[in-house]
Amino acid sequence: MGIVSGKVALVTGAAAGIGRATALKFAVEGARVMVSDIDETGGKETVSLITANGGEAAFMRADVARSADVSGLISQTVAKFGRLDCACNNAGIEGTIAPFADQTEDNFDRTIAINLKGTFMCLKAEISQMLTQGGGSIVNLASIAGLIGFPGLAAYVASKHGVNGLTKNAALEYAKQGIRVNSVCPGGIDTRMLDSLADQSTGGKMTSREMMDGLHPMGRIGTPEEVANLIVWLCSDQASFLTGVHVPVDGGYVAQ
Ligand code: NAD
Repeated sequence: MGIVSGKVALVTGAAAGIGRATALKFAVEGARVMVSDIDETGGKETVSLITANGGEAAFMRADVARSADVSGLISQTVAKFGRLDCACNNAGIEGTIAPFADQTEDNFDRTIAINLKGTFMCLKAEISQMLTQGGGSIVNLASIAGLIGFPGLAAYVASKHGVNGLTKNAALEYAKQGIRVNSVCPGGIDTRMLDSLADQSTGGKMTSREMMDGLHPMGRIGTPEEVANLIVWLCSDQASFLTGVHVPVDGGYVAQ
């Protein structure tokens, strides 16, 4: 029996990368999964990967920066699967790399709208649903950039520190109502996002691996599956006494 057997899980940004790996892991561990993203093709592929493996999943397109999309996503999840036990607020963007003085207002607004306000709106809707059922568990995608600064990434760093703030507050406010809220803080993970950051900082001269491997004490970047394993475990009853924590999954990066 899987560690989230019989539960209903929602993953945003699940068309690719960490979100897709998390949706697949939820299904392998016995959950029925609502896969959501703005990328319909990738999202439906994630559903096909789950069903081909004997799991149960559905896709709904939702932009986490739009409150109507987010409330529709939660009501559709409940309409389709009857409840919401686990939620992973993963959708996010890296934005553009620039020194602070050259950061544009547009990049700041967009990064905050998706990474921070999107997480806020998802939390609000998920918590409202979980309160009606007497509990649930939520994991937000922060980053090591939610724990320390990264030159050139002011908007992203601010958004991820904000995600950790929302995580603490939601955890405190609902601890007595059976809702646990935690965040994971990945280091460099082998996805499109890391490739984009490497392209932006080296003008395409270095791959994300060449740029990032040596910065991690383990000498390598991580895989989406290594993050997914932690997320699904945090959402499971095995993590029943954890709430309000920000767990690095970073090959030792923030220990330096
Ligand atoms: P990714 O770009 O591969 O996947 C992100 C997914 O989010 C995409 O499928 C994209 O379509 C979706 N998305 C973007 N904007 C959206 C929106 N407004 N509404 C709904 N979906 C949206 O990136 P990833 O590396 O898998 O990142 C997933 C999460 O992990 C992000 O929150 C990211 O900040 C965080 N993270 C990634 C790394 C890393 O090194 N890759 C490190 C730390 C944290």
